[in-house]
Amino acid sequence: MDTKLQIEPLKNWDIYKQRPLLITGPCSAETEEQMMETARRLVAANRVDVFRAGIWKPRTRPNSFEGVGAEGLKWLKLVKQEFGLQTATEVATEKHVYEALKFGVDVLWIGARTTVNPFAMQEIANALQGVDVKVFVKNPINPELELWIGAIERIMKAGIRRIGAIHRGFSSYEKTAFRNQPQWQIPIDLRQRMPDLPLICDPSHIGGNRAYLLDISQEAMDLNYDGLMIESHIDPDNAWSDKKQQLTPEKLAEMLDQLVLREITTNDTEFISTIDELRSQIDIFDDQLLDILERRMQVAETIGQYKKAHNITILQSNRWQEIVNKAIRKANNKGLSPEFISVILKAIHQESIQHQMMVMNEDDKKSKTA
Ligand code: PEP
Ligand code: MN
Repeated sequence: MDTKLQIEPLKNWDIYKQRPLLITGPCSAETEEQMMETARRLVAANRVDVFRAGIWKPRTRPNSFEGVGAEGLKWLKLVKQEFGLQTATEVATEKHVYEALKFGVDVLWIGARTTVNPFAMQEIANALQGVDVKVFVKNPINPELELWIGAIERIMKAGIRRIGAIHRGFSSYEKTAFRNQPQWQIPIDLRQRMPDLPLICDPSHIGGNRAYLLDISQEAMDLNYDGLMIESHIDPDNAWSDKKQQLTPEKLAEMLDQLVLREITTNDTEFISTIDELRSQIDIFDDQLLDILERRMQVAETIGQYKKAHNITILQSNRWQEIVNKAIRKANNKGLSPEFISVILKAIHQESIQHQMMVMNEDDKKSKTA
């Protein structure tokens, strides 16, 4: 990444008071009354750092409520004037950016359906050139870290330094309990790649149901996220969008009270030495795993040679199924989940096939050039 691009640490942002930073408000702006009442109740519950509301709503199918449009910007401005709250809305085009800035919106976020599109991202970045505004980039709907980072870089190249990421989960074809799959490894990898980038979790769009908000928020806090974006509505069951996942300001406050906030680091020397000792045990196991994998692949290569000599194909589906079934049964008794074991075994199998292929093709090449 371009080393000239800099990120302002969240602790220096004017909206940041404490962890978690809380961006909340309705999924969509609906009416002036709904906006003012939501803000009033969020302020009364003492649970809002930034007031969010979608004005332009990217809906999957036509004929759904697509947002009130620029009209809603006036209401965001009123919320700001009346309650002194900074405001946030989603922008997807350069026109959205210009309009939002004209009405003094403080925080812009880029939605998941926009992050996927480099043309749209570049258009937004161009509109932000030379502007001083805070920007959050949601993850793209598909689980692709490079696309997420690319979108963030485009905004940074426009000169935006108060920039952050929002993890809202990833689409999947299968129907699952959650609306979007969290795939926690992706934001964890993002953190690894951009350690200074503020990271916010959006449990509303991950869970798709208010019943899951606490668990997802807790997980985010335990993974050191800096903040949460949670949708809150004064009358969730009659919300014009995302009814099931919204909750009243009072219920939001109740939910947040149940969150356990742990420290990210400590100076406690006893803690540090105990953790160091446990980590060195983990390191030993990781080394052993690598040694075992190396030896397993060596056997796979021998098998590849043997199959080659006897003119037998690499993939033996029955044998593979047997391995998986046996391992899942065994793993169950060891407290390892079947999902985990099957992912691990698939990866090992894939690598094993790769090694066998290598052996077979190498022999082929040699015999051709001989
Ligand atoms: C939203 O925050 O209301 C929204 C539309 O989010 P996403 O882009 O995550 O779907
Ligand atoms: Mn929503």
